[in-house]
Amino acid sequence: MGVTSQTSVVWFRRDLRTIDHPALSRAVGDGSVLPLFVIDPAFANSSKVRRLALAEMLASLDRDLGGALHIAVGDPIDTVPAIAAAVGADAVHVSRDHGPYGHRRDASVAERLRADGRRLIGTGSNHLIDPTTVTKADGSPYAVFTPFSRTWRSVLAESGNTALLDAPSGADWITGIDGAVNDPRAALGLTPDDLGPNNDRHLDRSTASALERWANFRAVGLDRYDERRNLPAEAGTSSMSSALRFGLVHPARLLADLDPGSEHHRTFESELCWRDFYADVLFRRPETAWENLDRRLNGIALDTDERARERFALWCQGRTGFEIVDAGMRQLLTTGWMHNRVRMIVASFLVKDLHLPWQWGARFFMELLIDGDLASNNHGWQWAAGTGTDAAPYFRVFNPVTQAERWDPDRSYRARWLPELDTADYPAPMVDHARERDEALARYKAARGG
Ligand SMILES: Cc1cc2nc3c(=O)[nH]c(=O)nc-3n(C[C@H](O)[C@H](O)[C@H](O)COP(=O)(O)OP(=O)(O)OC[C@H]3O[C@@H](n4cnc5c(N)ncnc54)[C@H](O)[C@@H]3O)c2cc1C
Repeated sequence: MGVTSQTSVVWFRRDLRTIDHPALSRAVGDGSVLPLFVIDPAFANSSKVRRLALAEMLASLDRDLGGALHIAVGDPIDTVPAIAAAVGADAVHVSRDHGPYGHRRDASVAERLRADGRRLIGTGSNHLIDPTTVTKADGSPYAVFTPFSRTWRSVLAESGNTALLDAPSGADWITGIDGAVNDPRAALGLTPDDLGPNNDRHLDRSTASALERWANFRAVGLDRYDERRNLPAEAGTSSMSSALRFGLVHPARLLADLDPGSEHHRTFESELCWRDFYADVLFRRPETAWENLDRRLNGIALDTDERARERFALWCQGRTGFEIVDAGMRQLLTTGWMHNRVRMIVASFLVKDLHLPWQWGARFFMELLIDGDLASNNHGWQWAAGTGTDAAPYFRVFNPVTQAERWDPDRSYRARWLPELDTADYPAPMVDHARERDEALARYKAARGG
């Protein structure tokens, strides 16, 4: 509790929840609070599915805040300090954002607030362990995942799971401030006719539904995670990625339910570690959002001409003639989500069968994935391209046909997403995989100097 009563703004970004929210709890403990979300014009670049998802999540956050959420539109660098001034706030509280854009934006907002005698206070983040915390004994960063994960586990064990908090009670919300957006959907470029994404299976719009999904996965999926996580036809993974991306839930809530004695649970814990690992890598090397982490591959021959663009368009539409690739792309186009195994297969196909820049695929994914996260996505792509951390050896090329046979043996995933499968409308394979594999190997070898 603060000694004197303060006035604060809590600025929500990737933390659209009221439980497990240390910044919110702290601000409410200090005095009266304006809960704020700013619709940044940068959201205009997101797909409609993603904007619809955001609109629905904001509506549920508002309900969780008893209708007190103030939604504004504008560049946060101007808007947040202006609103803080309008309510006479002493401080603006946030959960720290470690993405390259968020980090820069917050530095600018902090500077503007400071000029007005106010503070930007970051408490907690969207991660179990924040970037730059996990280091080697000499303080230097880890370059590969496995040793990172060992230290990550010991840091977690030492710090304990401190992020779990009830929603703050007895809050004194500030309401009735001018400039609130009446229709957040319209501000996000949506019309009343735009319907929510067709993916109830993978998307939650509220903390309550995300927690319900998690409870269900815990009951029926988690104890078989290792066996089923690679089978795209099954609900073998948690589908928590969108809820984690927007912060409907904090990963600490999931971690608290894991049993360290179970191999399956430990595998799931490692996936949460991958999320922190990629955030750490991107925070330290922000240029790797779009540049090869392994610069040795900068000289690789890539196809970028008109013909390459046509091939890219077929990949985007899910019309490559490789069933598992097309099924994955259709799942993405329809639902804004794709199974992890299939993400790996379609990414490998773009890079190693079509010889296109991984950045093309990463950009397309970022536009469409509801869980789109620059660190996990772009480093997932760099993994597939063999240019990233802990890279799959460049000579390991996924065969889309044998991958499909192995992970979708009864074709049910492919049949679900490709209604024209087995009809004359389904295209023939656009390339000869064996030939393109040899071509890719030759190009990688040449780029690495033989
Ligand atoms: C090319 C490519 C692009 C990807 N883009 C994204 C992205 O934009 N956003 C995203 O959240 N994940 C991304 N992933 C990782 C992974 O595919 C998704 O996190 C996963 O499919 C989400 O489904 P789930 O919640 O059911 O996963 P689960 O298997 O239930 O995993 C639980 C959680 O662990 C985290 N996680 C799992 N796998 C990974 C991973 N490989 N890297 C980082 N975190 C992981 C996610 O937060 C996930 O919700 C990408 C992977 C690849 C290969």
